[in-house]
Amino acid sequence: RKIRVAVIFGGRSPEHEISCVTAGGVISAIDTDRYEVVPIGIARDGSWVLYSADPGQLAIVDGRLPEVLTSGPELAVPFSGATDLIVLEGDSSRRLGGFDAVLPLLHGPLGEDGTIQGLFEMMDARYAGAGVFASAASMDKVFMKALFTGHGIPTGDYVAVPDRMWRGERKRVLDDIAELGGTVFVKPARGGSSVGISKVPDASDTDAVTAAVEAARRHDPKVIVEAAVPGREVECGVLESLDGGAPDVSQPAEIHVADGFDFYDFEAKYLSTSGLTIPAELPAEVVAEIRREAARTFEALGCEGLARVDFFYGDDGRVYVNEINTMPGFTPSSAFPQMWAESGLDYTSLVDRMIQTALRRAPGLR
Ligand code: ADP
Ligand code: MG
Ligand code: MG
Repeated sequence: RKIRVAVIFGGRSPEHEISCVTAGGVISAIDTDRYEVVPIGIARDGSWVLYSADPGQLAIVDGRLPEVLTSGPELAVPFSGATDLIVLEGDSSRRLGGFDAVLPLLHGPLGEDGTIQGLFEMMDARYAGAGVFASAASMDKVFMKALFTGHGIPTGDYVAVPDRMWRGERKRVLDDIAELGGTVFVKPARGGSSVGISKVPDASDTDAVTAAVEAARRHDPKVIVEAAVPGREVECGVLESLDGGAPDVSQPAEIHVADGFDFYDFEAKYLSTSGLTIPAELPAEVVAEIRREAARTFEALGCEGLARVDFFYGDDGRVYVNEINTMPGFTPSSAFPQMWAESGLDYTSLVDRMIQTALRRAPGLR
């Protein structure tokens, strides 16, 4: 029989639509001779639905982003030892039947942050990607930075702004931020797709910093402020090895933000002509260092399956890790699949690899 794969997408985070686009790409490319896909959408209100529409609709059309509507049959999630969802149909219900692997193609909080991974652990489901801790630590840029520092992974300076500090010790926080000097980036600690991020040209401009922190706090009560790293932006794909060895690392990509954008913000990422150069045109020793640090970062955070590690190649000639993403954008035109295509693994093979690492995953502690 075919291997049954639950593809879960949408979700409650601001990256709902991007997740839908990712799912559209994956579902269209999956090898249907080997796999039976069960598409499961999570609507913005958190309800789970069996997605029955054409997956071709999960795409950006004329700048319009797709979303999960609550029109399909609703699903109930069991909590222990059963990868068997219940389909609710009016007053009756039926079992959907178990599945062999789960692809949680979700970005952001309640999808990429360890919460749904915890649910999968409870269900004994074999899912693709990072586990509970690695997901949580990679989603929270403050904990992520602490782990980078603990492992000697080069990264830029920052100030953490937890909710209580912002409310109770604002003057001290603003002084710490001013000490970063120069341009700063103000971010929700647990976000993605650049949602809620602002660039502030002068760290000592208290009014501008305050406005940026308030903007980030609309998405997350925990904020991080980072010193800008002037330089070029480079990304690198990492995959868990299939033979238990060191992770595989792709050719890096350089990002070219489209004209008219100040940085790689949401619009520049998805709705502009921003482009990639793969492999990145960098000195060989810089490429080697980036690939080495990508693998080290993956292992330092305890990642599994896949991740994309993002870098700055600073004007000072040094390499900095900006962040790690445990469920990177995964449409056929996204950086992660493009980097793997340039490294000899095409999109369908990459999806296959993701499913294979999920199937190999032993439930429980690893
Ligand atoms: P997200 O998780 O939302 O992608 P990032 O930390 O990657 O957040 O920030 C989004 C973008 O903002 C980056 O791709 C980059 O263009 C810019 N950026 C963020 N932090 C810095 C920094 N410290 N120095 C320079 N540019 C930055
Ligand atoms: Mg990110
Ligand atoms: Mg990023």
